[in-house]
Amino acid sequence: MKERPSFPAQLNRTSARPKAQGALAGKTVSHGIGLDSSAVRMNMVARLSKQGVTDARIVAALQEIERHRFVDSALVNQAYEDTSLPIGLGQTISKPSVVARMAELLCHGVSGKLGRVLEIGTGCGYQAAVLSRLADEVYSIERLRGLHEKARENLRHLRLANLHLLFGDGMLGYAKGAPYAAIIAAAGGEAVPQAWIDQLAVGGRLVAPVVKGVGRGAQQALLVLEKTEQGVRQSVLESVHFVPLKSGVA
Ligand code: SAH
Repeated sequence: MKERPSFPAQLNRTSARPKAQGALAGKTVSHGIGLDSSAVRMNMVARLSKQGVTDARIVAALQEIERHRFVDSALVNQAYEDTSLPIGLGQTISKPSVVARMAELLCHGVSGKLGRVLEIGTGCGYQAAVLSRLADEVYSIERLRGLHEKARENLRHLRLANLHLLFGDGMLGYAKGAPYAAIIAAAGGEAVPQAWIDQLAVGGRLVAPVVKGVGRGAQQALLVLEKTEQGVRQSVLESVHFVPLKSGVA
């Protein structure tokens, strides 16, 4: 039997990839590297689906966006494990299950696409790419110039016309794009900045990690905030581990 080439060694960031449908249809023709990464990615999404990610829009987005293109070459072989990974400057790419969970919370009760979305914490750009498949328009802010530029580089091949990368302090939101149908933060602070609530549309939804408790007992949990005509409604869900939300740029 011919030995199948191992997955990480076969990845090449610059080579063209086959159409996802080809791989999905389980064609026997080997497309080389693209098919290999595609199969591993499909497995990752299948595992997430088993764990309860059922929204077809999110499943499709996770199948489509190649997570291995967003991490350093030394970490490529871990790109399809459900784990966060370092992306430089002390930051991390979120776990796929967490990206899926937050997307699900944003999309809940919305049929079709989300309208305009604001993401705080572009990082390497992976979640921004996933969101761009779920929304009409995505504005994503990063406070670290190095990562803002890295994300731009990582995302170039996807040519996502509806994704706008911004360099700045996301604690201020981005008033020019407001009101947003959804706001999602990939970094956790003590409280949700008022600017985010102001920039959220009535009927819109915000998902963010927030710190609960003080001192040694402090823990992050996922907060879902809905803005209604009557005010805001908040629910605190499971605990999570995100990098801290910081003010200013660097
Ligand atoms: N969703 C990202 C996760 C990146 S980690 C991904 O898929 O890679 C969270 C990011 O939030 C970090 O890059 C960090 O620099 C950024 N961040 C923290 N505070 C911020 C702020 N006030 N404004 C914008 N970005 C911020």
